[in-house]
Amino acid sequence: MGEPHAIVVGAGIGGLAAALALHRRGWGVTVLERAAEPRELGTGLTLMANALRGLDALGVGEAIRRHGVPDSPGGLRTSNGRWLSRIEGAALERALGTAALGIHRTALHRLLRAALPASALVTEADVVDVDADAPAVTYRRDGSPATLRADLVVGADGLHSALRRRLWPELPCPAYSGSTAWRAAIRWTGPVATAVTWGPGREFGTVPLGDGRLYWYAAETAPPGGREPDELAAVRDRFGGWHEPIPALLAATPPEAVLRTDLFHLATPLPSYVRGRVALLGDAAHAMTPHLGQGAGQAIEDAVVLGAACAGGRADLAGALAAYDRQRRPRSQAVARASARTARYGQQLRHPAAVALRDGAVRLTPSRVALRAAARYADWQPPG
Ligand SMILES: Cc1cc2nc3c(=O)[nH]c(=O)nc-3n(C[C@H](O)[C@H](O)[C@H](O)COP(=O)(O)OP(=O)(O)OC[C@H]3O[C@@H](n4cnc5c(N)ncnc54)[C@H](O)[C@@H]3O)c2cc1C
Repeated sequence: MGEPHAIVVGAGIGGLAAALALHRRGWGVTVLERAAEPRELGTGLTLMANALRGLDALGVGEAIRRHGVPDSPGGLRTSNGRWLSRIEGAALERALGTAALGIHRTALHRLLRAALPASALVTEADVVDVDADAPAVTYRRDGSPATLRADLVVGADGLHSALRRRLWPELPCPAYSGSTAWRAAIRWTGPVATAVTWGPGREFGTVPLGDGRLYWYAAETAPPGGREPDELAAVRDRFGGWHEPIPALLAATPPEAVLRTDLFHLATPLPSYVRGRVALLGDAAHAMTPHLGQGAGQAIEDAVVLGAACAGGRADLAGALAAYDRQRRPRSQAVARASARTARYGQQLRHPAAVALRDGAVRLTPSRVALRAAARYADWQPPG
């Protein structure tokens, strides 16, 4: 019969991590990716301790740390620069055993891909159907349909997952979160902390990436679908009067570097991450708002747990998938709820009285409580 085989749909961070987790447990893997050249758009991201521990378990943690930058001490400020709370990076590192990491998405994607056999990835393969019992997927490539069978199918096809739609047709589509976001990775060598600034209905964040680069993101409460002829000018209008270094960072940003994304999430949680021999993971399973910086981290956790659950190969795969669902659904859905809450009471809060009340409460929070809150969702260990 040979080695057990899995088809992974989608070569984003979640799909590549899942393929790697299964490959390391003795599975053959085929990753079907719709795009011609799978690459991570969207500049940079923060990998919290849980994501880094997951990447360590996949054997790529060290390589990824070499391409990123440990978080520098930062915290939370108001738009005039006043600190509401300061998180000392070293204290967080002591609490969690590892600092968070800022990394360019392209570097993360490249390193995950390099750890897989080159033949595992099939590009320009658009998956259009799935049979959860066979299990099998149908995809279109070069204009022709093809069907591929395996022992397991992993749906890692992101926010607008076709597999989720096919398997849970009764569930509503992802919902608009109420916020739109701009982001850019720029050349920047000056010292900038990993920090977040709140203003009414708005947020601006900075993440050093190393190699003389920095990633900034900005979010605003707004109706969906808004587009500006010059998105950088729109960001300058809204954030250009905030404290330094925000105006300087925007002045150093080329217009073509700015990416705008309306933020959607899976507001109705899935009743299961498994149907037949198909397992969903990453944004396909629990797309969340980015306000906790945990979407990719949760996808990596999913991948590690799925790999561990399926270590027995074909033996009791139904039991393995049930264990995956049991271990991953409560935690990832709790993180998704917390992320939406963080958005509501953080970036999305607009009423001046509510903002003043919230800012006062944050200022009065003792630093050890703030530290515990910052560590709460990042404190995760891969299965032994
Ligand atoms: C503004 C913003 C900031 C963020 N910041 C952070 C952060 O700091 N830290 C963090 O951990 N997370 C962050 N996230 C979240 C993170 O980016 C996502 O959760 C993560 O990238 C999801 O990975 P994924 O592999 O599940 O999905 P995706 O990255 O969406 O990958 C899905 C892949 O599937 C492919 N695909 C889709 N449909 C098909 C099909 N039918 N057939 C074949 N292939 C298909 C797509 O082309 C794509 O390559 C942020 C998100 C946003 C929007």
